[in-house]
Amino acid sequence: IPITRFAPSPTGYLHIGGARTALYNWLHTRKFGGKFYLRIEDTDKIRSTQSAIDAIINGLNWLGLDWDGDIILQSKNVFRHKEVAEELIRIGKAYRCYMTQEEINEMREKFGKVISPWRNINIADADNIHVHSILNMNEEETNEMHNNRYQYKDLQYQYKDLEYKQYTIRLKVDLNSISGINDIIKGRVEVNNNELDDMILVRSDGTPTYMLAVVVDDHDAGINTIIRGDDHFTNTFRQLQIYNAMGWNIPQYAHIPMINAEDGKKMSKRHGAIGIDQYKNMGYLPDTMINYLLRLGWGGDGMTEIYSRDESISSFELHKVSSSPARFDIQKLNNLNGHYIRKTDNKLLFSLIYPLIIEKLNLIDIKYNFELDEKMLLKGIDISKQRVSTILELSDICMIYFYKKNPIDDKCQQVLSKITVGLVDDIKKYLLNLKEWNCLKINDTIEIIAEQKSIKKNEIMSLLRALIIGTFKSPSVSEVMEVIGKEKSINRIIQTMD
Ligand code: GLU
Repeated sequence: IPITRFAPSPTGYLHIGGARTALYNWLHTRKFGGKFYLRIEDTDKIRSTQSAIDAIINGLNWLGLDWDGDIILQSKNVFRHKEVAEELIRIGKAYRCYMTQEEINEMREKFGKVISPWRNINIADADNIHVHSILNMNEEETNEMHNNRYQYKDLQYQYKDLEYKQYTIRLKVDLNSISGINDIIKGRVEVNNNELDDMILVRSDGTPTYMLAVVVDDHDAGINTIIRGDDHFTNTFRQLQIYNAMGWNIPQYAHIPMINAEDGKKMSKRHGAIGIDQYKNMGYLPDTMINYLLRLGWGGDGMTEIYSRDESISSFELHKVSSSPARFDIQKLNNLNGHYIRKTDNKLLFSLIYPLIIEKLNLIDIKYNFELDEKMLLKGIDISKQRVSTILELSDICMIYFYKKNPIDDKCQQVLSKITVGLVDDIKKYLLNLKEWNCLKINDTIEIIAEQKSIKKNEIMSLLRALIIGTFKSPSVSEVMEVIGKEKSINRIIQTMD
């Protein structure tokens, strides 16, 4: 039974990749009836913000991805992280390192990695030792050290530097072995520990590093399945060292490939690597996002595009997630959103576009009618939802039901410039005589007028559009006229001709 977690750092948006990571954790957990935790990794006090925490929580709520238990704040566990670091020192798996930044830089330059001279000093409490560093060794000693694969048996240090030094706590990596994981998505991957540094567990200012905190928190919460972005893959081999040193059970790993932009490049803001809340604002539905993110990197049966939430849970297979990067495809997202909009109940759509419409009404109140005719709007939604791909588009189209006086766009203006008052009067008469006011009858009437006047049907329709709607961006003119109603349609004609 999977015990999983989503562990975002609250330093920015909940972006599309993070949302997908959360989704895959959630699906995998809900499928097998496990536990899914939310842990906010807020140990970087400078970069973490409350608004980013809110964005994560709101984003997950909006998507409907619920977690078990309370939210875990990593910063609350700092004491425990340090406790584990001290324990590692006590059992000889970690050590206090007194190297200065200059020494570290110099060593990195020389050897490409840091091997602390302090790794083999077996003293439980080195706080009071004033050190002279390894880099004061002469050339010969340095070479010898290098040849010995950085193993120092008897390090000579002098008590020359009397200044008290701050220390970091480093893990003593077993350099002579190989670390491997069987990643659920990537398969077996091994790394020679020789390539690893003795990573820092606790910084010189006493704060635990991400590497330590993540392992301790995962272990303490009983996490047995870690599903996260591929960008953490190399960290895994470092984190394994901590599990091994503590003798803890190693979780299963699944690293999800990155999401690339349409051009194959890394997602950036320019490509739409923006917060999930902005997708909400742009008018995408949560069901769309879930369905889209599900299919972004998981092929399913290769045919099915539409998955309900329940189907997503029952069908999702973590081990079948593609091991190569996914490609973000806005067209696909739009098509999917159109599908979900058409499936959504008109009343619900009403509640989604209502605030947007109110906002617009308030912005340009003079142009609009404040009376919100709910019935009319519901009908308007019904005929318009067939042709939109976002809620924003739907609200834009629906503005045509609120005009006091139509705004006339250029195309309509052109149409109006060619008409004669006589023709409009005749059209008005025909419409006034219409007993049954519906789309079909209106269409019939347009046909009759066209025949009588020897004008193309399309021209009459454009004319009515210019007179009643004022824009070509809407459903067909007869449908709109039905929604607006006889009286208001004719009033609009009169107003436009005024
Ligand atoms: N806090 C890390 C991040 O937001 C994720 C840690 C993890 O999943 O192991 O990138």
